[in-house]
Amino acid sequence: MYRPDYKLSVVVPAYNEEAVLDLFYQKMTEVLKGFGCDYELIFVDDGSADATWAKLAALSEADARVVALRFARNFGHQTAVTAGMDAATGDAVVVIDADLQDPPEVIGEMIERWKEGYDVVYGKRLKREGESFFKKFTAAVYYRLLHFMSASDIPLDTGDFRLLDRRVVDAMCAMREHNRFLRGLSAWTGFSQCAVEYVRHERAAGSTKYTLKKMLRLAGDGIIGFSSKPLTLSFWAGCGVCSLTLCAMLALLIVQIVRGFSLLPWVFALLFLLIGGVFVALGAVGAYLARVYDEVKGRPLYLLSEEKNRSLRS
Ligand code: UDP
Ligand code: MG
Repeated sequence: MYRPDYKLSVVVPAYNEEAVLDLFYQKMTEVLKGFGCDYELIFVDDGSADATWAKLAALSEADARVVALRFARNFGHQTAVTAGMDAATGDAVVVIDADLQDPPEVIGEMIERWKEGYDVVYGKRLKREGESFFKKFTAAVYYRLLHFMSASDIPLDTGDFRLLDRRVVDAMCAMREHNRFLRGLSAWTGFSQCAVEYVRHERAAGSTKYTLKKMLRLAGDGIIGFSSKPLTLSFWAGCGVCSLTLCAMLALLIVQIVRGFSLLPWVFALLFLLIGGVFVALGAVGAYLARVYDEVKGRPLYLLSEEKNRSLRS
């Protein structure tokens, strides 16, 4: 919940970002000082092989508001953000990339919306500058597929650049599942969310740290972690095959009454019916598996957005 003397935590995952860190720190500090609030800048070095850690260590030496965390190896962007959120003590947490693709100025607008009472204010990309056609196209298709498949309201064309209220952060930190898709988790909480539109710039320096393999892994975590549809697909495919085969058998029966009996088409028809049956059975197994999977994840059953007379945080 917004309060006038709020503290802001900014979480920045950094993987081999030596080329951009100083510029990022400069710009971010300028913007944060403009808000006149208390703040902390939490960098998480995701197992970088370059001078990222040395730079972060120097920054934290010079500025007490800079918190630097270092991973023993590269655990991935989503895990780095999680570690930053775990360490955050602010009333709101802003997640932002280190490469200045997401403009720090937009945080001001996010705070305005937070003041209005929104718990999740996400950045919606109006335009993506300096990214390949392949990346833009696959991202656009993927966001729509995910939106269609997922039961949580995961907004279109948004990345991890967002402001999260303390209660959303607490809820997300309580979910300790491994294959994390943070945009999904923040939507899953169900707390009120709204968008702030912005143009995504080109990287200020360096090159992308999201390899195709990492992209695909994240895409998979999004769909598999937030949808059971792929599991139930085979049930409906099986039902489709069975109904089509039954129709074909009826037609065959009529044709054979007129033209005379032959065995071969019936063998084929039975084969198709059996295959359809197998798919239905697989789908049924999938439906159970989907529920088991939900349970194994061990997420809380529900979250209360309001309570009276109970002290939650000191
Ligand atoms: N990043 C990270 N670990 C990784 C890959 C990336 O912490 O394994 C960080 C990276 O330093 C940056 C953010 O995640 O701050 C987004 O990565 P990048 O800009 O390379 O992705 P893109 O914007 O190209 O999708
Ligand atoms: Mg980037």
